[in-house]
Amino acid sequence: MSEILVLVEHVEGQVKKVTLELLTLARGLGEPSAVWTGAGYSPEARARLAEHGAEKVYVADSADIADHVVAPKAELLARLVADTSPAAVLVAATAEAKEIAARLAIKIDSGVLTDVVGIQDGLLAEQSIFGGGVNVRSRVTKGTPIVAVRPNATPVEAVAGAGAEERVEITVSDAAKAARIVERVKEEKGARPELTEASVVVSGGRGVGSAENFSIIERLADSLGAAVGASRAATDAGWYPHQFQVGQTGKTVSPQLYIATGISGAIQHRAGMQTAKTIVAINKDPEAPIFELADFGVVGDLNQVVPQLIEEIAKRK
Ligand SMILES: Cc1cc2nc3c(=O)[nH]c(=O)nc-3n(C[C@H](O)[C@H](O)[C@H](O)COP(=O)(O)OP(=O)(O)OC[C@H]3O[C@@H](n4cnc5c(N)ncnc54)[C@H](O)[C@@H]3O)c2cc1C
Repeated sequence: MSEILVLVEHVEGQVKKVTLELLTLARGLGEPSAVWTGAGYSPEARARLAEHGAEKVYVADSADIADHVVAPKAELLARLVADTSPAAVLVAATAEAKEIAARLAIKIDSGVLTDVVGIQDGLLAEQSIFGGGVNVRSRVTKGTPIVAVRPNATPVEAVAGAGAEERVEITVSDAAKAARIVERVKEEKGARPELTEASVVVSGGRGVGSAENFSIIERLADSLGAAVGASRAATDAGWYPHQFQVGQTGKTVSPQLYIATGISGAIQHRAGMQTAKTIVAINKDPEAPIFELADFGVVGDLNQVVPQLIEEIAKRK
């Protein structure tokens, strides 16, 4: 069976959920081989990758890879493609990995598909395009398919693989080392789950009314162990930080449950959340377009509905 290379996403040595999703997908296509780049590799990381089906774990954690941005990773993947002739290369559809995918595609003269939400037999990929308005099926017809898959599009299944570790030494070109990481700043992170990985997301929009009133959204999120998101209207108004914006120009989320409060449901917002399994909308306007998409809707003032909801959730705990 052909190898499927899976570029590992990790934060401080912790394998991100999207990588487990990619390994799950890869298992349906061939033999998954995880590719670890950068610092933080550990036996625990290897075990986690193996638990989710990685037959091999290629490790490239030299300073040449760890201290530079995307270009060395593209060179590494090009070398692995040349050495292993995989059936496909899977990466997460994150900003960084998509850039790596594009650079790799140029290097190995292959086609690349982005924003993929599923892959079927024969490497037929389902892509969500035009801001999520249309789903199409596409196939790479040239070279080794490079596929960038959206986080949260695939349910994770743990099936053990051998997880055989293989160190990869690579001489990175000077050109690829032109951009060097000079400082790392730790992103402020509270106790809430990471937005793109959360299984429940509570988002607030212009209807929330003010930065102060976002505390009501946070309280609802905390009562559910959820992440907080926001519409662009709310982030542009400075009510909530931009890193929490959901939508076409923000983050894409695909949780089990998405609660949209005071959000009208503009196409650009939908693009970032419409694949959520269950959508609940709270909006005072019964004609708000979000209700066309919602599985459950509450017509009412969020300032009255949300506190009652928090109370009911507390009672059921
Ligand atoms: C190129 C481009 C990219 C964009 N990218 C994004 C993106 O990534 N993400 C994004 O979100 N938007 C994006 N937008 C903006 C998008 O078009 C909308 O303007 C935006 O999503 C509106 O945000 P909203 O729903 O919070 O505000 P509004 O559209 O103003 O809706 C507010 C809603 O709150 C309801 N409401 C008001 N008060 C209450 C209350 N007390 N209780 C209950 N409900 C109440 C109203 O009935 C209304 O439905 C983009 C736009 C463009 C042009």
